[in-house]
Amino acid sequence: MSVTESRPDDAAVPEPLLRIEALGKRFGGLVALDNVTIRLQPGEFRAVIGPNGAGKSTLFNTLTGLHRPDLGRVFLSGTEVTGRTPHALARLGVGRTFQITSVFSALTSLENVQIALLAHSGRSWNVLAWARSMQVTQARALLDLVGLRDRESQLAGTLAHGDQKRLELAIALATEPKLLLLDEPTAGMAARERLESIALVHRIAREIGLTVIFTEHDMAVVFAVASAITVLHQGRVLAEGLPEEVRANPVVHDVYLGETPSDYAAEQERA
Ligand code: ADP
Ligand code: MG
Repeated sequence: MSVTESRPDDAAVPEPLLRIEALGKRFGGLVALDNVTIRLQPGEFRAVIGPNGAGKSTLFNTLTGLHRPDLGRVFLSGTEVTGRTPHALARLGVGRTFQITSVFSALTSLENVQIALLAHSGRSWNVLAWARSMQVTQARALLDLVGLRDRESQLAGTLAHGDQKRLELAIALATEPKLLLLDEPTAGMAARERLESIALVHRIAREIGLTVIFTEHDMAVVFAVASAITVLHQGRVLAEGLPEEVRANPVVHDVYLGETPSDYAAEQERA
């Protein structure tokens, strides 16, 4: 019998939705990702935490095809997708939002979502003319989902920061992702708004069966929703586990969590 024919262990373990094997990425002499291995099961709501410069955005940019990894492999539901382009990955069900808000400021909320729907449907030529006349029902349904239906005619650039983030979420959902990567989705929000915003994503993910991996600095947000936590430090996975395991890990405390409770308390006082 050959090795590949009988693999009882593999049969017992479900194939992860996302399997990252020993990923490595350098920028010149700087090692931004070093031997990063992560497995994400369907339905997870995984937080990736770590200090600034830990490699979180680099990981997300590599997973969405903006960077090519130097080492390692990435599998989506068992299919290797290492080095695929952002467009190809989007087609395979990988959606994302960016750390910096990226909506078309001079278009309305509705138009922003219509364009995303059209780009996904493949009619990318003269996209604005098409967008204005089409996909209205679907675009409104997405705005409804994120709680922006009453702002559909407002120019995206004039939306409050939190509402722009919701709009980005609707735009990301327009590509019908199976896996959604959110890089600091609550950046720039006040403490209460951060919790509301992540709770919204969490509810939607439950409703439509979406697997989510997100980065977040606010530990209150992380511990409110994360199904598991991966801690990155200097490009490496320092720790991984259930929220309570990571919270209790002394190594994590030393490099990262130790400073957080006081920061959070100070912020609460200011708010
Ligand atoms: P995080 O998102 O965890 O704050 P990043 O992934 O943005 O960290 O950055 C990890 C390291 O890689 C940092 O030292 C950063 O300066 C470096 N880095 C990130 N992107 C680039 C790039 N495009 N070119 C050069 N260095 C980069
Ligand atoms: Mg970052």
